Amino acid sequence: VWKETLNLLRGVLSEQEFRLWFFEVDYYDGSEETLRIRVPSSFVRDQIKQRYQRLIEDKFYELLGRKLLLDFVVEKRSLAQERPVSSSSPQREIPKERPPHPQLRRDYTFENFVIGENNAFAANAALAIAKNPGTAYNPCLIYGGVGLGKTHLLQSIGNSVYGEFQNLKVVYVTAEEFTNEFIASIQNKETHKFKTKYRNVDVLLIDDIHFFMNKTETQEELFHTFNALYDANKQMVFTCDRPVSELKNISHRLRSRFERGLNVDLQPPSFETRYAILKKKIEQKPIHIPDEVITFIAEHVTTNVRDLEAALTKLIAYAELVHRDITIDIAKSQLKDMFTTTKQTNITIDLIQKVVADYFGITQSDLRNKKRTRTVVFPRQIAMYIARELTEYSTTEIGEYFGGRDHTTVMYAIQKIESKMRTDPTLDTIIAQLIREVQEGTK
Ligand code: ADP
Ligand code: MG
Repeated sequence: VWKETLNLLRGVLSEQEFRLWFFEVDYYDGSEETLRIRVPSSFVRDQIKQRYQRLIEDKFYELLGRKLLLDFVVEKRSLAQERPVSSSSPQREIPKERPPHPQLRRDYTFENFVIGENNAFAANAALAIAKNPGTAYNPCLIYGGVGLGKTHLLQSIGNSVYGEFQNLKVVYVTAEEFTNEFIASIQNKETHKFKTKYRNVDVLLIDDIHFFMNKTETQEELFHTFNALYDANKQMVFTCDRPVSELKNISHRLRSRFERGLNVDLQPPSFETRYAILKKKIEQKPIHIPDEVITFIAEHVTTNVRDLEAALTKLIAYAELVHRDITIDIAKSQLKDMFTTTKQTNITIDLIQKVVADYFGITQSDLRNKKRTRTVVFPRQIAMYIARELTEYSTTEIGEYFGGRDHTTVMYAIQKIESKMRTDPTLDTIIAQLIREVQEGTK
């Protein structure tokens, strides 16, 4: 039945989706009421449960004409030796525990990463890479605003590969560390050492590559490292706080390398995902938090996962200090100042213009004058949109700040951005990030 069900699923799902989730799944055992499948991790189990359980049980019904439930056993199939179908190998090989990887946080794993609509594409890609480093998607670039899980995902790939492929050399660095190390190697006349180190890795993970902007020499070095690894089919994964097209002062040839392969983005989590993330984080702590409080936090902390965690940490710390249970009232009073009120009174249009101009590498006066070249029109529209979102100014007043444009121009700009955001998730990410920067700029 399982085989036939898989065939049916293959018909409904895209090839990539099918491979991603069912590649390492097989039949375990069955009874009258249930059929158990073996899945490689609780992560895959949760995903299949959430996405496909209903569908699969429907297929069972189609095939058998009666109800059959799907159940799971979490068990790794060792990669070196595919599990023989017979169950006559009771001492299955338990993967040897390696000492923790020196550069990776142990808790940044796929198991601890909650998948939602906002990050599913990136997470699936990361998972596929972890299963088949060097062949799945190479290189891969994960981009998105702060606190959305870039580092967590990147390190999850590292931890997974490090645990599963014991012969592969995994290196994780931030772009900043890479740069500093390179500069130091020049000073110490040890560039050959540096080159050898980075050209002999199997999986290279570089976090926050936007740091390479303006670092011409480091870019040059990375370009050569990239080519060496790429030609040898070594896996590379990068993260960035914006899409590659938005990077400034990155050599053309390096940019085109980053764009090669797969580019995936992380969006801010929806309410459901925020709730699921909080649940997951609380699960790991010896503390009880009422559901109503979890809902409250998920509803109000909407910016990103880092803020979500910060809210939780703050609440737990408070409760521990005053020896009280966490209640909704405590949550309300303690978290008041963390909530993003959409209309913060201390946000000025001047600040918005600064942030936007900075991001697009233009000057503030470009936003205020009458120029109509493409490079300034679009940032200007974005700045107007953000001004409308974050301040109480009327469209007429906003127009005055932008070189005395009338309110219809401002309204047109806002509509333009709104409709663009609906079709272009990248723009959504960029604007969310700019808004965060503006809000942070007032602190
Ligand atoms: P970024 O690198 O994009 O700024 P991080 O990877 O540092 O973000 O994530 C910020 C925090 O949020 C980390 O503690 C991380 O574990 C957590 N986090 C982010 N996304 C998720 C998720 N989907 N599930 C669980 N935790 C997450
Ligand atoms: Mg990060």
